[in-house]
Amino acid sequence: MADLMNGAVVVTGGSRGIGASISIELAKLGFHVACLSRSGDLPDASALDDAASKRLTGVRCDITDSASVHEVFSGLSKKLGQPIVGLVNNAGVHLQGPSATFALADYERVMTTNATSVLLMSQAAYPHLRESGSALIVNIGSFYDKLGVKGNLAYCASKAAVGAMSRCLAVEWARDGIRVVNIAPGYIETDLNREELNEGALQAFLKKRIPAGGPGKTEDIGRLAAMLFQLPRSFLTGETLYVDGGQGMAL
Ligand code: NDP
Repeated sequence: MADLMNGAVVVTGGSRGIGASISIELAKLGFHVACLSRSGDLPDASALDDAASKRLTGVRCDITDSASVHEVFSGLSKKLGQPIVGLVNNAGVHLQGPSATFALADYERVMTTNATSVLLMSQAAYPHLRESGSALIVNIGSFYDKLGVKGNLAYCASKAAVGAMSRCLAVEWARDGIRVVNIAPGYIETDLNREELNEGALQAFLKKRIPAGGPGKTEDIGRLAAMLFQLPRSFLTGETLYVDGGQGMAL
């Protein structure tokens, strides 16, 4: 049986933002990390020592493309010299616009990238995760999964689907030794939203609106995801953990 701290973890969207932080924190713990993105870029590893940064591998993959996903998994374990013990479904896109005129192509892009990819990646990873005997899938949803947000029908629907998939996979794969946890962040400053968050009116609004005093940092999610990998065979599965500074529950 593979030791969870010593195996390989596949992180989608591992080149930057939240996925980069998750990859860095996992590499610090000793995991080998395959950082998937369309560019195949490595995350900025300046905070890591040499040994830890060597545990990061940039892998080019479009998670909306079944052939690309299956190709990655076919040789990955051999390439990394490690059993695959984890998957982090993090990559996502955020397109918004009024529901009355929102283009179907944009709706489909959001659903395919944020939700369908979770099924596709999990299916491709399943034989590897099952073989390891004790594995973890972490999905990155959003606190928008339980909110009604103007102009965000597609994004909210996609993240609600991620929560539902997390519960279904957790129940279906528990006896295979695979746990599934959904982390649902609130506002975290990354490339996805940096411009928007630093715009004066929204910045002031969020300072007041978020009980913790403003948006979170990528490390808030990276450290939590890595911590979940430090709890092998835990009883925790299927749950959504909201990490939003209290915003989603505040009046
Ligand atoms: P970023 O835009 O900073 O990074 C997105 C990452 O996903 C990049 O590595 C990008 O690389 C990769 N990616 C995008 N599309 C694909 C694709 N088709 N195939 C493979 N890789 C892809 O995003 P964030 O770090 O902000 O967000 C990460 C996750 O967290 C998303 O699921 C997002 O919805 C969620 N989230 C973010 C919040 C926030 O406030 N930032 C709040 C709540 C949830 P490349 O372009 O090279 O493919």
